[in-house]
Amino acid sequence: MKITAIHTHYVRIPFDMGAPKQEFAGLRFPTMDHLLVQVETDAGITGWGEGFGHSIIPATKTALEAYVGPWFIGKDATEINALHREAAQAFHIFGRNGPVVYAHSGIDIALWDIAGKRADLPLCDLLGGARRKEVRAYASLMRYANPKTVGRIAEERVALGFKHIKLHEHSIDAVRAAREGAGADIALMNDVNCPWSVAQAIEMERAFRSSNLYWLEEPVWPPEDHDGLARVRKSGSTRIAAGENAAGLHDFVDQFQKGSIDVAQPSVTKIGGITEMRKIVAAAEAHSVELVPHCAYFGPGNLASIHIVASLATDTLLENIYVNLEANPFGDAMLAKDGKVRVPTGPGLGVEPDMKVVEKYRQGPVGTVR
Ligand SMILES: [Mg+2]
Repeated sequence: MKITAIHTHYVRIPFDMGAPKQEFAGLRFPTMDHLLVQVETDAGITGWGEGFGHSIIPATKTALEAYVGPWFIGKDATEINALHREAAQAFHIFGRNGPVVYAHSGIDIALWDIAGKRADLPLCDLLGGARRKEVRAYASLMRYANPKTVGRIAEERVALGFKHIKLHEHSIDAVRAAREGAGADIALMNDVNCPWSVAQAIEMERAFRSSNLYWLEEPVWPPEDHDGLARVRKSGSTRIAAGENAAGLHDFVDQFQKGSIDVAQPSVTKIGGITEMRKIVAAAEAHSVELVPHCAYFGPGNLASIHIVASLATDTLLENIYVNLEANPFGDAMLAKDGKVRVPTGPGLGVEPDMKVVEKYRQGPVGTVR
């Protein structure tokens, strides 16, 4: 089954988040942006994937159209593992993290969608099967900064049925307000996106303890300082999560060996797709580290994450970013109800995009590689 064409769709969707937007992780987020990757085969089966993401999509799109996509044209879509390895080697001098790997991730996800459609099975069945028909989601809040707003939004999410809430807040007051808003029984996490030195992170972990965090995410700059993160983890009592900025399997193995993290967070649209994700799932298990995928997007990467979480032996969590999108090509497939998201039952990713919605929100023409 030969890959005959790859198309890219740059989709930008307006959203609200229940309060004024704040800058975070260096981004302003005027819209929620997605790069949809559509892979066509000579068997007539089309697969969908997604490459990361947000402000860097123009670079990911260019990497895909100029180099990564052309490499895949003519290859056999059914040889997923071998293609993944050969592609990674072919691209390695252009960066082991960043737009080239994001583009590769998008194609890999699409190949798994194709495999599911070929087998007429949902992706989770290809990954070993799912005991659960729905997965528990955690509400991942944008940054609000204002403690009163953080408290209100946390309270609203709890009222909707979420038992786990993640913040993106830097101040002790904002975290405390969220704890008050959410109540004592809710698992509260805080993701700070790599702001601090090791010494500062140790101090902040101590300061956050009164809010009883379920995990503290990426407290140390830079994310590659696995030794420094291990020092924060060992000096404190809060569980440490990281991994959305890791470069592949070996970056995770290094974190496991150094004892840097309690929770591994590979991102399927960034790390090398589902194929790389499966290796990290096995490595995390071998090192007794919990795995909760990073999932800060609403396209095929999100659908893939639902299937991955559903197929894990442990009853783990799915990240569910809280924003209200004006529309989504995949309908309400990623919406949480009572703190849970249903696992799609159709073949492959299980949901096909509504092309009318894609066309309405597409920025610029479709990119095509043949
Ligand atoms: Mg994060």
